[in-house]
Amino acid sequence: MSTSIIIIGAGASGLMAARSLSAVGWSVTVLEAADRPGGRILTLEPAGFSAYVEGGAEFIHGDLPVSLQLAKEAGIVLHPIHSQMASPPIEGEGGTGLEKEDWDDYMTSDWDELMQKLQQLEQDQTLGEFLATYFPGERYAALRDRARRYAEGYDLADLHSASCRGLYKEWSNELEEEEYRPEGGYRRLVDYLAGECRRYNCTLHFSSPVAEVHWQRGRVEVKTASGQPFTADRLLVTVSLGVLRAGILRFFPAIPDYLQAARDIGYGTIVKILLEFKTAFWRGKEAQDQTLFILSDQPVPTWWTQTASTDTLLTGWLPVSGIPAFVQLDRQGRIDRCLDSLANIFAVDRAFLSSQLVASLVLDWSDAPYILGGYSYPTVGGQEARTLLSTPVEGTLWFGGEGLYEGDTPGTVEAAFSSGLETAKKIIAQS
Ligand SMILES: Cc1cc2nc3c(=O)[nH]c(=O)nc-3n(C[C@H](O)[C@H](O)[C@H](O)COP(=O)(O)OP(=O)(O)OC[C@H]3O[C@@H](n4cnc5c(N)ncnc54)[C@H](O)[C@@H]3O)c2cc1C
Repeated sequence: MSTSIIIIGAGASGLMAARSLSAVGWSVTVLEAADRPGGRILTLEPAGFSAYVEGGAEFIHGDLPVSLQLAKEAGIVLHPIHSQMASPPIEGEGGTGLEKEDWDDYMTSDWDELMQKLQQLEQDQTLGEFLATYFPGERYAALRDRARRYAEGYDLADLHSASCRGLYKEWSNELEEEEYRPEGGYRRLVDYLAGECRRYNCTLHFSSPVAEVHWQRGRVEVKTASGQPFTADRLLVTVSLGVLRAGILRFFPAIPDYLQAARDIGYGTIVKILLEFKTAFWRGKEAQDQTLFILSDQPVPTWWTQTASTDTLLTGWLPVSGIPAFVQLDRQGRIDRCLDSLANIFAVDRAFLSSQLVASLVLDWSDAPYILGGYSYPTVGGQEARTLLSTPVEGTLWFGGEGLYEGDTPGTVEAAFSSGLETAKKIIAQS
C-alpha cells in the first residue's frame, strides 16, 4: 500500500488534504513557495494600520459546512455580517453609489427576467452572447451593464468566456445566505490547520518553491528552485490555476492536456485596496453594526466597511476591466484614483479625504508571486477541463484546489477546503 505523498502548496486546499492524509498515517511532505501558509488567505498587520486587515479572503459566504465545522473545531468565533447595500448619507445627498431603494430595484425588476431566461437556457453559452441575444438594444443597456459588473465584480469573470449555466448556478444560490467574518482573521483557520498537520507528523517546508516534477507510475521526485530533491509515491498539486497556466511547474514527462485544461477553466484577477482613515466619515449613527457595500460607476467602483470595532477601514475592490489603467499608475496615482472615487461616492471634499487618510495598502493579485490571480469562474467547456484535471495521471499525479471544486460555492475558501478534503479521500481510496 502507498503511504507517502508530497503536496505542493500550503493554502486552504493543500493543508486540508495534508491533515486528512497524515491523520490516517500517510507520510506527508508539504512544499510551499511562500514563507507562510495560507496562499490567498492573507491576514496582515501592516505598518500604520490600527488592526489586522484581510489582504485576501475575508468572508465566509454562507453557512458553508466545511468552513463552519473547522471554525467550530478550532474554537474560532464567526461574526455574522449585517450587510446593507447603500451609499451612506454623508454631507447630505449627492453620492453616486446606490441608495437602498436603488439596490432593491437593481436586484428585482429586470434582474428577475434575466435570471428566468438564464434558468430556461437549453444550451450553455457565454454571458456576453446571452446578453446580446436576449437583452439587446437601448431598453436593456442598464441591465447589460449591471450583469457585466456583477459578473466581473463578484465572480471576477470575463463576459466573453463566462458560462451562463455556471453563473446561474452560483447567482441563484448566493443572495439570501448569512455571511461571516472569522474573529481574529481568516489566518486563524490556517494556523489551526497547520497545527493539526504538525500534530499528525506532517512536514511543512516553507520558502520551498517547486520548479520540476519528475514522475513515473507510483514514483515522484520533485525539485525546488534551489535544486533540493524530495521523493514520494504520490504527488498532489494544489497551486492556483494561474500558476499552472504560467508553466512555473515543469513536468517530466510533460502533461500538456492537463496544463491546457488549466487554461480552459476561467481564472479572474482582482486588486484589493485597504484604506484606513482618522474617522469613519461615512457612518450615519444608525449604521454602527452594519457592513455597508457600496457599488458605483466610479473608476474604483466597489467599497465596503467593517463593523464598529474596526470602523475606520474602507476596503476597495477593482475588478478586471478597471485593472489595466489602474496598474499603470504609480503608488500615489493609485491612491489618488481611490480618493477621487470615494470623494464622488460620498460627495465629500477631496482635500478633506486626503487629510483623513492614515494608512493605505494596494494588493494587485495578478502580480502576486505563486498566485497570479484571484479565483476561478465557470467557462463554457470548463466542466470537461475540470473533470480531466480531477482525474489522476496514472494514479500518481493528483490535482486539487479551489479551481477544481464542483459544488455550489466556487471561487471560495470553502471550495478550496472541500477540494482538499475530497481529493484526499479519493487518494486514500485508490491506494
Ligand atoms: C483578494 C481575494 C479575496 C478573496 N475573498 C474571498 C472571500 O472573501 N471569501 C472566500 O471564501 N474566498 C475568497 N477568495 C478566494 C479564496 O481566497 C481562494 O479560493 C482560496 O484561498 C484558494 O485556496 P487554494 O488552496 O485552492 O489556493 P492558494 O491559496 O492559491 O494556495 C496554493 C498555494 O500554493 C503555493 N504555490 C504556488 N506555486 C508553488 C510552487 N511552485 N511551489 C510551492 N508552492 C507553490 C502558493 O504560494 C499558495 O500558498 C479571495 C481571493 C482573493 C485573491
